[in-house]
Amino acid sequence: MTDLTDRRKLRMGMVGGGQGAFIGEVHRIAAAMDGWIELVCGAFSSSADRSKASGRSLLLPDDRVYGSYQEMIESESRLPEGERMDFISIVTPNNMHFGPAMMALEHGFHVVLEKPMAFNLEEARQLQQKVTETGCSLLLTHTYVGYPMVKEARHLVREGKLGAIRKIYVEYPQGWLSKLSEVTGNKQAAWRTDPQQSGQSGCMGDIGTHALHLAEYISGLRATRLCASLQTFVAGRKLDDDGSVLLQFDNGTSGVLMASQVAAGEENALKIRIYGENGGIEWNQQEPNTLLVKWLEQPTQVYRASAAYLSEEARAFCRTPAGHPEGYLEAFANLYRGLALSLQPWRNEGKAGPYDFPGVEDGVRGMAFLDCLLKSNESNDKWTDFTV
Ligand code: NAD
Repeated sequence: MTDLTDRRKLRMGMVGGGQGAFIGEVHRIAAAMDGWIELVCGAFSSSADRSKASGRSLLLPDDRVYGSYQEMIESESRLPEGERMDFISIVTPNNMHFGPAMMALEHGFHVVLEKPMAFNLEEARQLQQKVTETGCSLLLTHTYVGYPMVKEARHLVREGKLGAIRKIYVEYPQGWLSKLSEVTGNKQAAWRTDPQQSGQSGCMGDIGTHALHLAEYISGLRATRLCASLQTFVAGRKLDDDGSVLLQFDNGTSGVLMASQVAAGEENALKIRIYGENGGIEWNQQEPNTLLVKWLEQPTQVYRASAAYLSEEARAFCRTPAGHPEGYLEAFANLYRGLALSLQPWRNEGKAGPYDFPGVEDGVRGMAFLDCLLKSNESNDKWTDFTV
């Protein structure tokens, strides 16, 4: 593992995210936002030629653009400490997470990994074991917990303002898979609906894992039992495109989780409501700078990003002056900010700071959630235990 005590930028390598890819560019923008991280190398595509073309368009030197992730990790680990990458961001389809993540950890590189963490639970457990053995960091990009108003919601719950939590509703409807887009040239649809590339679940793996993570993050609770019903509405599709889940949490809180990619007309309408004895919170991803805080027998309050009355936890993640919208890219950048601060604590001038980011345990939990959903869906029992 490279020494990171020097005051310098962190060096990032990327696997995936070539020309025409979706999330790779978002990662590059997010990582660069604070000026603390620079992209130094990449293996951007499964085709060496396309990887080279992508690297050239990113103005990387030819000798740092690799034909495969194996070549990249081996070559980078042979470079002197002052040059080689410090961490690798893996933004490939789900079946291509484990290989590069495991090899990077084995060579002492920290890892940023897209969700769901792996292709199956067994792979996720192996990555967890390797993170423990190596002491390397792993950031799992559950984007939505990077939003300041999500941090504020968690703060209100933690402070006990809402009282004991009783009810969680989390819903994640999208409409973009309402047709059989996987056969009409939509690359992102094609791999997400292919069990060989996506894994055992479609919609639930893609966005249901985000919804569970968000609910557990804000509430601080862990789901312990669930009852799931998964559907595949679009004829010819091989994986679920919709699902509904009843949840029970460890303090007796009851929950409802819904995720759908056939909610025709919806964009990315992730929304969460959490209610305690005294009141509740409501946050909607498409209006991310607003948090509604509801009180029993009192008017609802409207909390806004960057306001002086927010907790330090939330303000540490606000980037723009109050009233100036910030959003998805900044939330993603906050995850990278958390990683950078944990690897280079001198950036925070010795202050502990409220910086956190999702990690390998969250990834294992996400994969165990998918196993449990499928088990529950096939079972006639009302409840299935959710253990990790
Ligand atoms: P995509 O199909 O748009 O891009 C995948 C990229 O990986 C392509 O450039 C492809 O060429 C490359 N690739 C495939 N195999 C490779 C290999 N062996 N070596 C190097 N590159 C390879 O996919 P996407 O929509 O960007 O999704 C990628 C990952 O990001 C998925 O795991 C997905 O679940 C996740 N994702 C997360 C979020 C989020 O909100 N955090 C949003 C979108 C996607």
